[in-house]
Amino acid sequence: MNILDVHTLTVIAAVVAYTVLLIAAFIRRSQQEKQTRWLLAFLFTTIIWEFLRFFTLQFSIDFFPDIPTKVLLVGTMLLGVTTAVYANWPRLHFWLLLSSAAILTALAIDFFLPAEALTIPIDNESTLTIYYTSFVSYLSWFVLSSYLLARTWREYRNTRFPWHANRLLFWVIALLSVVVGEALIFFNWSGLTIAGQITRFLGAVGLTYAVSSYRIFDVRTRAQRVLATTIITTISALPVVSAVLLVLWLPDDIPRIPEFLTTVFIAVIITLGIFFYQPFRNLVERFVYRYLIGEDVNTSQVVRSYSQAISRTLDMQQLSLVIVGTLSELLETTRGALILFTKMEDHYEIEPIPAMGRIPRKKIYLSHDSVFIQALQQHQPLLQYELDFNPDHAGLSEEEQEWLQELAMEVYVPISTSSGMNGLIAIGPKNSALPYQPGELELVQILADQTVVALQNARLYSELGSQNEKIRHLNKDLVSQNERLEIMDRVKSDFITIASHELRTPLTQVKGYSDILAAMNEENALTREQTREIVSHINRATLQLESLITAMLDASQLDVDGMQLTFVQTRLDTVLRLAVEPLIQAMRERRISLEINGVEELPSIYGDFKRLVQAFTNLIGNAVKYTPDHGSITVDAMLVPSEEGEEDYVEIVIADTGIGIDPKFHDLIFEKFFRIGDPQLHSTGSTKFRGAGPGLGLPIAKGVIEAHEGHIWVESEREDEERLPGSRFYIILPVQPAGAEATAEAVTTTRPDYLVG
Ligand code: ADP
Repeated sequence: MNILDVHTLTVIAAVVAYTVLLIAAFIRRSQQEKQTRWLLAFLFTTIIWEFLRFFTLQFSIDFFPDIPTKVLLVGTMLLGVTTAVYANWPRLHFWLLLSSAAILTALAIDFFLPAEALTIPIDNESTLTIYYTSFVSYLSWFVLSSYLLARTWREYRNTRFPWHANRLLFWVIALLSVVVGEALIFFNWSGLTIAGQITRFLGAVGLTYAVSSYRIFDVRTRAQRVLATTIITTISALPVVSAVLLVLWLPDDIPRIPEFLTTVFIAVIITLGIFFYQPFRNLVERFVYRYLIGEDVNTSQVVRSYSQAISRTLDMQQLSLVIVGTLSELLETTRGALILFTKMEDHYEIEPIPAMGRIPRKKIYLSHDSVFIQALQQHQPLLQYELDFNPDHAGLSEEEQEWLQELAMEVYVPISTSSGMNGLIAIGPKNSALPYQPGELELVQILADQTVVALQNARLYSELGSQNEKIRHLNKDLVSQNERLEIMDRVKSDFITIASHELRTPLTQVKGYSDILAAMNEENALTREQTREIVSHINRATLQLESLITAMLDASQLDVDGMQLTFVQTRLDTVLRLAVEPLIQAMRERRISLEINGVEELPSIYGDFKRLVQAFTNLIGNAVKYTPDHGSITVDAMLVPSEEGEEDYVEIVIADTGIGIDPKFHDLIFEKFFRIGDPQLHSTGSTKFRGAGPGLGLPIAKGVIEAHEGHIWVESEREDEERLPGSRFYIILPVQPAGAEATAEAVTTTRPDYLVG
């Protein structure tokens, strides 16, 4: 068989082999549809290329221009696209641009310099003729292939996760095999061409394997093991082999040693060899394993010390540290977390407890049938690689993907009981950048199983902690409620004091003046003028009594059946004008300024005109009472437009520059008969600075506002007569209270007779 025959046969064999490969890839296409499609195109181009080569060889057809090489270039381009899809390159156009430019340049040279060639003399007899067109084609092939290899290699180097990197490493090796094979074929020298064909085909088989199955064996570990076995076998066989060789090489005619002794010597060496081979091999094995692969761990000892360490830990953070610390020592990882799963009715609440590395504490809520949860249900370690490439786990939601990306873990090992998932141990890639071996994963799973009880204990403990915290809060609440009750109790007893004081003062006046009136009348000493004056005193005292009693009745009405209101269309500017009217004189005397903003723009609201005037008089009256001379009071009003599904409402803020209110009394001042300060002080006038009142103004104002379905509250930093922090009373009133049955009653402008300051 001459060389040509061998070449032709190789090409035929290659066509058959590639066709088989193409069929195999086609059958397994469902796994990674897109990349398989491009690989099929590549294999198909390869077959065409081999056919063209067959014609060139068999019939000596010299395609002119060099068509087979152009087809090969198209093949390289397709190989690049397959690689791009496989390695998930973000941008494909650079490759497409580069490869099309290369092919077009080669074609252009064909067109413009078809017959130009370079003749290189090889020796005296033969020369090598290289057409420019072929040269450009080879150069293009070289550039494209090198770029492809370099880029994939760089990607492999930059990939953090070992299994992801392994996949790329495998691809690089297969690519390299294809490229080297092609280079060898180019040489067109018998042995090299055959070797090239085989290498290229093996490369193509590798590519097909990588494309059609996502689970690729661990290239580096396997290479390491092969190397280790080779070294172990070689070294351990060395002594025996060398001894035997030594004996065999002994000169036959050593006179002093009889022949039978030589035989005995050989027998002894072989026996010793057999005897010592195994222990020596074990020794070598241990040595090589220690320095090349790493020592095996003593599983039972690890499990024992791990169980002891976690059983002593009750705090969740501590537990996470212990778990990840042990694993990091064992597997040399620098990243890890305990991830807690709390089962809810239709979802899991998942919370990482970081232990090592920068890990976000971000919680995520996943439904029971989410891809991640389903993947973990198999009760075995789950690799991030599986989540990314196993078609069974396809369809991770964007939220899941983002969360997992932030965690950046290599393996998730479930901690589960029969009732469901309790948590996960998550560990990052190893320092050595080697993938986790099945044995290691198994060990982590055993440790995870050991963690169930410790995790449950830590959970109970933390629940206990939060219950304790709750109880502490409740206790605090209880204490403040107690304080409040005590104050209320005091208020109740103060009420008697206040009421008797408040009532006694005007009563004493009435009695005193009427006594004077009677006595003077007896003596007939009363002038008309005196009578008018005494009667006016009596009148004022009675009015005071009346207003106090009205206020008390109003307040008691609040308790019995709330406030009975008559809703009419009411303008708040009129309300405020009337509310302020009785206070103007006092404000003038005490040089307190009043500013009212924004009321004119307010729409009419439905409300009880008289009651609103009463409420605002009480509030502005208080502002006057608790603001020292020369202070200022501001009333700001505005309409707050409704949000969806809600009514419009108005907000009125009454702010003063007065003494302020201690925050601990912010609620209490709205209670009946509560007033800050000494209950022995009796009413000293409704407008005097700090003039004590009966403690009914705010409860009545609150009753009125709430009967309008509104709210009232106060904001003030503290009470301070020196620095005067001031108080701000907020009043919210709906424009159209739901319960308001508007009557067409006209707005009344008469001054209400039950005002109390
Ligand atoms: P009083 O009749 O005593 O004014 P209120 O019910 O109107 O009763 O007010 C209760 C208490 O709230 C008052 O005793 C006073 O201490 C405090 N208070 C009310 N308004 C103000 C204010 N604008 N600035 C400071 N303290 C206020």
